[in-house]
Amino acid sequence: MFGDKARIDEMLEKLNRVSPTFCGAKWLHATIHLGSGETHSCYLPPVHKIEPENLIDNPGGLHNTPEKMEQRQQMMKGERPSGCHLCWAAEDDPNVDYSDRQLRSVDDWIMPHLDQLVEAPLEKPVYPTYLEISFSNKCNFKCSYCSPQFSTSWKAEIDKFGPYKLTEGPYLHESHYRLPLKPDQHNPYVEAFWQWLPDLYPHLQYLRVTGGEPLIVDDTYKLLNWIGDHPNPNLVLSVNSNFGLPEKYQKKLFADLKKIEAAKAVRSVDMFTSVDTYGAHAEYLRTGMDFSEFDKSIREYLTEFSSSSLSIMCTFNALSVIGFGDFLQWLLELRRTFHNGTRRVYIDTPHLNGPSYLNAKTLTPRYWKLMEQHIAFCEAHLVDNEKQAGFTAAEVARLRRVLSFMKNIPSPDWLTTARRDFYFFFKEHDRRRRTSFLDVFPEMEDHWEMCRQFVEL
Ligand code: SF4
Repeated sequence: MFGDKARIDEMLEKLNRVSPTFCGAKWLHATIHLGSGETHSCYLPPVHKIEPENLIDNPGGLHNTPEKMEQRQQMMKGERPSGCHLCWAAEDDPNVDYSDRQLRSVDDWIMPHLDQLVEAPLEKPVYPTYLEISFSNKCNFKCSYCSPQFSTSWKAEIDKFGPYKLTEGPYLHESHYRLPLKPDQHNPYVEAFWQWLPDLYPHLQYLRVTGGEPLIVDDTYKLLNWIGDHPNPNLVLSVNSNFGLPEKYQKKLFADLKKIEAAKAVRSVDMFTSVDTYGAHAEYLRTGMDFSEFDKSIREYLTEFSSSSLSIMCTFNALSVIGFGDFLQWLLELRRTFHNGTRRVYIDTPHLNGPSYLNAKTLTPRYWKLMEQHIAFCEAHLVDNEKQAGFTAAEVARLRRVLSFMKNIPSPDWLTTARRDFYFFFKEHDRRRRTSFLDVFPEMEDHWEMCRQFVEL
C-alpha cells in the first residue's frame, strides 16, 4: 500500500504511547486569519475567535488561544476534541486506512518535534512550525463553496442581491459569517503578527501566505520583502494564488520571489493554487477563473522557477466528479512536462464537508462508479515514488478515502435538505451570475432533476 506505511505505523505506536488522540498538528500547525481575527489548528476543525485582549503583550496569543490550549489538554488525556470529528470519523471507519492526524504525524514539521512537545508543560505556549497566514479577505473570485467572510467579491454579491434563500432560512446572511475588520479600522491582529514575527520566524519550517487572494494585498509584498532581508535556511515559503489576476501582479510576485531566491533567503519557494476539476466545470465552480489563462500562468511559473514546486489544492465536491477524468489527464501531462527527476506538481484532495449541497455525499451511486474509474486511471499510472511522474499509492489512497466518504451518508433527512439546497443555490447562482448549470454540466441532468424534485416535495 503506502510506500511509507511502515513509517506511519512506527510513528503511530509512538503517538499511542502519549495518548490515542494525540495530534502534533494541534501544537505545531496554525492557520491565522488576521483580517477577521480567527484561527484553527489544523485546517480541519472550525475556526475560532482570537480575543484582542489576549494579544496585549502576548502576540503569540494569535496561535496559543485558550481554545487550543484546552484541546491540547484533552488530547494529552486521550479525549477527542469535538472540532477534530473528521479524524475521529476516519479512525472509526474500517474502510479508511489513516486519518489526517495519523498521516501527518510523519511530516517533517511534526515528527522531529514530538518528544519536545510531549515533555513540555502543557501551559507552555508553542511556536508553530507550519503557519498559514491570511492578511485579508480581498479576492477577485467568488467560488461556490466560499463566502463573504473570505472573499470581498462574494460580499459585493450579497450586498447587491441579498442572502441566498435555502431550506434553513437565508444562507450567507450576515449572521452566518464574521466579516473582517474594515481596511480603515485599527487591526490588532495584523499589528500583533508584525510584533510576533521576529520571535516566531526562526521556528518556522513552512510559511504559507494565503487570502482571499494575497497578491492584491500590500502586506503580502511587505512580508516577502521582510523575508528577503531575514534569511531562514530552514524555511519553505509558499504563496497561495488563484492565478487569475492581471499580469502585473504575477510579474511583481515573480520579481519578489526571484529576489528571495537570489539572496538564498529560504530553503525553497513554492506556490499553492486551487482548482477542483477541469475546464468549464472549474470555471463554473470558481467564478472569476479563466481555465486556459490559469493553465498558462502555472506553466509560466513552473518554467521560470525551475527548482520550485506547485501544489494544487483540489477541494473535492459534488461538481468535481464528472470532469475529474479530464482533470487527472491534465495533471498527469503537467507532471510529465515539468518533471525534472523529481516531482514538481503536487495534488491534495481534501473532501468538502460544507456547504452541504456541494458535498459529494449528495451524489447517487452512478457517481461512485465514475470515481472508481478515476481511481483505476491513477492505478494504471501508479509509480513507486515521487521520482517518477505518475500517481503514488498515497494519492490513490486519498481518492479511495474520498470515495468511502461519499458513500457514508449521515441521514436521509440530511440528504433531502442538501439536495434541495443544491437546486435552490444553483438556480439562484445562475440568475445572479448569468450562468447555466445545465449548459456547463449536461452530464449531471439526472442530479439536477432529482434535486429539483425535492423542492417540489
Ligand atoms: S482535525 Fe485531525 S489532524 Fe487536525 S488537529 Fe484535529 S486530530 Fe489533528
